[in-house]
Amino acid sequence: MTAPLNATHDPQRRSWVESANHPSNDFPLQNLPLGIFRRSGRDAPHIGVAIGDQVVDLAALAAAGFLPDSAKAACAEPTLNSLMGLGPVAWSGLRTRLSELLGADTCAAASRQTAVSACFVPMESATMMLPARVGDYTDFYASVFHATQVGKMFRPENPLLPNYKWVPIGYHGRSSSLVVSGTPIRRPHGQTKTAEAAAPTFTVSQNLDYEVELASYVGPGNAQGAAIPIGEAEGHIFGVSLLNDWSARDLQAWEYQPLGPFLAKNFATSLSPWVVSLEALAPFRVPAFARDPGDPSPLPYLSHARDQMIGGFDLTLEAWIITPKMRAAGEMAARLSRGNFSSMYWTLAQLLTHHASNGCNLLPGDLIGSGTVSGPEKTSRGCLLELTMRGAEPFALPNGEPRGFLQDGDEIILRGYAERPGARRIGLGECRGVVLAANP
Ligand code: MN
Repeated sequence: MTAPLNATHDPQRRSWVESANHPSNDFPLQNLPLGIFRRSGRDAPHIGVAIGDQVVDLAALAAAGFLPDSAKAACAEPTLNSLMGLGPVAWSGLRTRLSELLGADTCAAASRQTAVSACFVPMESATMMLPARVGDYTDFYASVFHATQVGKMFRPENPLLPNYKWVPIGYHGRSSSLVVSGTPIRRPHGQTKTAEAAAPTFTVSQNLDYEVELASYVGPGNAQGAAIPIGEAEGHIFGVSLLNDWSARDLQAWEYQPLGPFLAKNFATSLSPWVVSLEALAPFRVPAFARDPGDPSPLPYLSHARDQMIGGFDLTLEAWIITPKMRAAGEMAARLSRGNFSSMYWTLAQLLTHHASNGCNLLPGDLIGSGTVSGPEKTSRGCLLELTMRGAEPFALPNGEPRGFLQDGDEIILRGYAERPGARRIGLGECRGVVLAANP
């Protein structure tokens, strides 16, 4: 079984926006991710679609009569929430129209290209904002490799808790501190306590970390009390982006029992600005994670034949770092890890269905984090906690600098992309954040 493909996925098609045709560009004609931007010197936030090095203003396209009736009112809004609430038929209709308007084969007339390009803003002059008003944010823990690695550090004899393979583990994050890529991150203060100390101290966090995650945005929600069947779950997912769940490990170790993460994580969470639709990722769907023969099968409410066959995503996720010393020397970012979303134990559909299974109402624009994306190889570990064994095994960057946890001035850059023979490469763009020194 494969996900259905259509003309919008055709790898042979090119855009008349030349920059979109470069093989390494994240935003070819086959991607068409949506985001919220402001023009320099202009305050009104508009919905935009990324094509090559340009942003197309959808409010302007709608005003010029280029967009389908089903989506044009939602496309004039200052956030994606209304569009998210419309559902897959409207999303797909919009994607088809945008693909026609930007395709070299389907929009060949110079006059039509001129009319469409009147709605362009160069990406370098657009200021990106959060794509949605996120009412609620939930973060899961869906990588069994991450859960096992982290569990080993805290409970060597019993790394994986007995519920892990039965129930997707998550906690409620905080939406007020979500920030868009490029926003600096202030190092937090908090309570920490070493094993030897008799009492905790309130101090600057020394063990600041990042987590490589995939975010998904909820499309149409569910009424309170009504669950979302697993077979319908993907119709409630608008798209995905990159998420960095900044984590103060010293605060976390002291506060996390018994209710889970709190101040160790809710000071800031970064999001990439472009939301890539599940339809754009259709060529990169793979089976759900192959569980060990001894593992339990998902309970019936989390089981669906289609989800088992194509519920996964072959999506590469990377973390990179630039330290102040590297920046001063003009050096390129150094890669910290490279993992793949196909190694996640639970699918996006299972996370969403589980979230609503008790009747919890999800709303358009709600955010669901996957949890740290780590695979079985050491090079695929998606946070410093795992890469350095809680800071005990610092590594050397290419310039010789050691890193255990993040230092002030370090910039973390997350990147994501999907590629395979026979399909056009799709990028998620970047999620960046520089660590600022703690307030005095
Ligand atoms: Mn996380």
